[in-house]
Amino acid sequence: MAKKTIKDVDVSGKRVLVRVDFNVPLKDGAVADDRRINSALPTIKSVIERGGRAILMSHLGRPTGNGFESAHTLRPAADRLGELLGKPVAFPSQDCVDQAAADAVGAMKDGDVLLLENLRFHAGEKKGDAGFAQKLASDADVYVNDAFGACHRDDASMVAVPEAMKGKPRVVGLLVEREIKYLSEALAEPKRPFVVVLGGAKVSDKLGAIEHMLPIADQVLVGGALAYTFCKALGQSVGASRVEHDRLADAQKMIDLAARVDHELHVPFDHICSTEFSEHSGDIEIFEDSIPEGYMGLDIGPQTQSRYRRIIKTAKTVVWNGPMGVFEWAPFAVGTGSIARGVAEATEAGATTIIGGGDSAAAAEKFGVADRVSHISTGGGASLQMLEGRSFRAVDILDNA
Ligand code: AMP
Repeated sequence: MAKKTIKDVDVSGKRVLVRVDFNVPLKDGAVADDRRINSALPTIKSVIERGGRAILMSHLGRPTGNGFESAHTLRPAADRLGELLGKPVAFPSQDCVDQAAADAVGAMKDGDVLLLENLRFHAGEKKGDAGFAQKLASDADVYVNDAFGACHRDDASMVAVPEAMKGKPRVVGLLVEREIKYLSEALAEPKRPFVVVLGGAKVSDKLGAIEHMLPIADQVLVGGALAYTFCKALGQSVGASRVEHDRLADAQKMIDLAARVDHELHVPFDHICSTEFSEHSGDIEIFEDSIPEGYMGLDIGPQTQSRYRRIIKTAKTVVWNGPMGVFEWAPFAVGTGSIARGVAEATEAGATTIIGGGDSAAAAEKFGVADRVSHISTGGGASLQMLEGRSFRAVDILDNA
């Protein structure tokens, strides 16, 4: 169901509470990567350029929930946002719901921007606490969810705050609108061939997506550590590779499902392996099919790389979530680089290509293809939940268009 957006609301003179995703990496007290802040600018500008007052709230990292921690302050994000907007951003207090914060919100003028301190300094945020949410909601006239990276979470600011604001406008921001539109359109009516590439560390994280995508996609390609649970289920020896033994039966179910729906589930058939989980040491070898004792698979091998790249290049829709190997380390980054380039080539040949957040977005940057794909999502977990075919409670409860 399409949702109302911030553009549908008359914000003039209104206090607009916007949940953004400013969960950005920090280095030496400054924002190391401001992509998430940049992605929120269209919504923030839409509020302030029409005379609204933008009260922004976000989480950052994983503080303990027992009050202010300097390592997790959002102040650097406020500073960076001020630079990007070219105007001051108020950052009134070390506590998002104390009197100083409330006073600063009360003193805002039309067109002002204010950022509240890290929501997770209160344990109530992760618990979805209604009392905490009520305090955040009490001064606001409009609620906006523009935090795509947190849409799969039922935290207080995502669900209990809009619940507490029933009767007032509750809408999605322009980033959330764009993210959901991209993925849902690609999944609902994909141009074919439709290829889904799934990698990463844990098969347990991706089983839901594999199960949901197998009947929809023409081909599903798996790589990364999660592939070894599949290799093992297929009876191959995988040496010391990472296998989730309690998921072998699930992997077998996926192999059976692929046969039933007659869509291809590709598993790597050669592997770049090492005797140590390390960037610089260990004996590095390439093995086909079976991996001997003492070796662990850390990247897809050259033949798998070319096969995957060929399949991706001829696709008309590609969705990619999760690296093919330990791409942070040069000896095991080749497979992920090859996929990244394949996705860029597919885009240049007219395909719609979507990279699902987190590590794959970092990989796209690393291999220089970030501006050669159709869309890079700002949310890894949230885009994965869409691949699982599950909706977001945080979005479902907002006003329908
Ligand atoms: P995820 O967070 O599930 O997307 O997983 C990403 C992480 O998986 C990255 O940090 C990779 O280094 C790691 N990874 C990918 N392939 C392997 C592998 N074969 N063995 C161990 N770790 C891997």
